[in-house]
Amino acid sequence: MATVRGIPVSVHASFLLLMLFLGWRTFSTSGLRTALIQQVFVLAVFVCVALHEFGHAIAAIRSGVPMSGITLYPFGGVARMARRPPQGAVEVVIASAGPAVNLAIAGVLFVVSGGGVVGPGDSFGLRMLSLLFWTNLILAGFNLLPAFPLDGGRILRGLLTTRFGWARATVWAASIGQVAAVLLILIGLMQDFWLVLAGLLVLPAANAELRYALAVRQFANRLVGEVARTEVVAVDATTTITEAADLSVATPIADFLVMDRRRPVAYLSAPRLWARVRSDEPGTQPVIAIAEPLADSIPSETPVEDAIAFFRPDGPEIAAVVDNRGNSVGVIARGDLIRAAQLARHATSR
Ligand SMILES: [Zn+2]
Repeated sequence: MATVRGIPVSVHASFLLLMLFLGWRTFSTSGLRTALIQQVFVLAVFVCVALHEFGHAIAAIRSGVPMSGITLYPFGGVARMARRPPQGAVEVVIASAGPAVNLAIAGVLFVVSGGGVVGPGDSFGLRMLSLLFWTNLILAGFNLLPAFPLDGGRILRGLLTTRFGWARATVWAASIGQVAAVLLILIGLMQDFWLVLAGLLVLPAANAELRYALAVRQFANRLVGEVARTEVVAVDATTTITEAADLSVATPIADFLVMDRRRPVAYLSAPRLWARVRSDEPGTQPVIAIAEPLADSIPSETPVEDAIAFFRPDGPEIAAVVDNRGNSVGVIARGDLIRAAQLARHATSR
């Protein structure tokens, strides 16, 4: 909708619908003046929510984390970062910046009114400022609940990350977020519908983050042998293409490790084999003629982060993984390793 300091900002359509709905309802029950006052107030709250998100965005950019955009909803906003904060301490700063903006607005209102905003207010203007003051305190307070993905949950995760690493910290913060969301829903059912809504918004985000953290954690401290693809069949280099095709039909495992005197020398994937079978050329050639060359074999006990060194930049994309007696246990692609190594580093980053 607009770009502010290079950050795309959009307003969700439901916000405009809410404005129209509230305006129409208040106009039909309480008249034009009340409806206009209400619209101005809703817009003022909207500005406070937007400033909250800009607090996150500016803190992120200053910490070197690029922003991909801000979306504003009727009851809050989302400031999306292009990537995750690199360290726990950075996440604490970025997450704190939003609620800090609301506390600052409340502070300014308090000072400007000489403290008058705390009470109900004896003039119309003061009553409006008082309402805005309390709204900002509620915005700050609600967002500081230690329930991931709320800001308080992110602050908690950032603090835990500096001690336990990203993956363990996220598992904890997201689990606490799940409990908090369920509590919000239960308390809301007895007290206030809005708490139910907040809980329902928090719960799926906490679930998603927990699943992601558990997936990432799988790669921390992993060895190549544990992430290698083991569903490959070893065939002798002299096997013909037709024989390999018959084998491929007979077994659910379709990719081949081509062996020469018990040493892995090449790799033949099912798509590559079947592309050749479908062509008109005879299948009497040995598989080695169409297989891809392999990089140096990688011992299965190698940590995933060290294994990337076995691949030369312009060399083969696939390597055999061998046990300590030199027998092949599977294959691994350079791309798999890069992804696994990134996830492993991410899981333990502080
Ligand atoms: Zn926030």
